Amino acid sequence: MALPEGALLVERRCTMRGTQLGVLLPVMLLLTGCAQSASQPQSWDFFAMDTYMTFKVWPQDPALPERTRTEIERLESLLSVTRDGSDLDRINHACGTPVTVSPETAEIIQMGLSCGAETGGALNIAMYPVSKLWGFTQDTHQVPAPGEIADALEHTDLSRISVNGETITVPDGTELDLGALAKGYAGDRLRSVLQENGVTSGILSLGGNVEVIGTKLDGSPWRVGIADPFAPSEILCSVMTRSGAVVTSGSYQRYFEENGRRYHHILDPETGYPAEQGLVSVTVTGEDGVTCDALSTALFVMGKERAVAEWNRRQDFGMILITDEPALYYTEGLDMQDLPAIPVEVISHEP
Ligand code: AMP
Ligand code: MG
Repeated sequence: MALPEGALLVERRCTMRGTQLGVLLPVMLLLTGCAQSASQPQSWDFFAMDTYMTFKVWPQDPALPERTRTEIERLESLLSVTRDGSDLDRINHACGTPVTVSPETAEIIQMGLSCGAETGGALNIAMYPVSKLWGFTQDTHQVPAPGEIADALEHTDLSRISVNGETITVPDGTELDLGALAKGYAGDRLRSVLQENGVTSGILSLGGNVEVIGTKLDGSPWRVGIADPFAPSEILCSVMTRSGAVVTSGSYQRYFEENGRRYHHILDPETGYPAEQGLVSVTVTGEDGVTCDALSTALFVMGKERAVAEWNRRQDFGMILITDEPALYYTEGLDMQDLPAIPVEVISHEP
């Protein structure tokens, strides 16, 4: 199916043992500056946070591309796990001593810990010692030895992380990675920056994270395409939305292959191996991107049954699950369009 109007494709980065197969665009700022009629939306894009980001907003303002770029730069300098001197880098190299971070970093860490507790540890922001072994952040992919994974898992205990105001303390050997929710937070911040600068209608895509402002110019909802996990350059279906965020986590987004097996980037904190609970894509819709982002990763790890139980318990988000059968499940209340020719089931609230 072709990309529907208003839809934005999610990120796809497929790698095989160090060789980038599907790098989206060169790592450079691509602020498109072509003349656009004032009655039309303004569009631009750039590469940041390891992701191709696209923007389409109204009304136009030539200052917006730079403002969004500056905000992303600011957030990367706090939250990047690979950038020297970022808040995360300082925490991860503190050898067990307390580190003072920005209020935003502390807030996101606290949020990650809360979501980790609520999801029985499925979201674990201390998985960096394990994910480093797999080489996902450094693009040096390898299957670690089981003993290495077992040793690294010893350092992923969330209960030993302390947040006291803006002071974070993690045990020596424990390292944090906010990759599961940082883009969600960034999307929320960009949405705020755009709104503070007068934008009343818009859609932004940060890889698998889409955020919308208001409706389309004609008053109709945005159509957000959900990538086909089995053919990621295609759209499998769409969800209509008038506000908030639509965030997808998928095993097709980042992976490598070795000895005929595929290893993806969402790790099961119980095992230290890529989560294999029968899901290939989880989309979460809701008001704020950071919550949707944390949940989409956690629900992927939890699998369909536990994800449905969590949805029934919280009742404050929408959910689209695609399983490896393949089959598609979505929660009641979502305005789904362009449904595919695979089995589709609506998940209803438990009575
Ligand atoms: P997302 O694409 O939002 O699902 O986040 C995936 C990213 O979060 C990975 O690339 C890792 O950086 C990190 N990650 C992987 N597994 C987990 C997990 N179980 N809990 C928290 N973060 C994770
Ligand atoms: Mg996430």
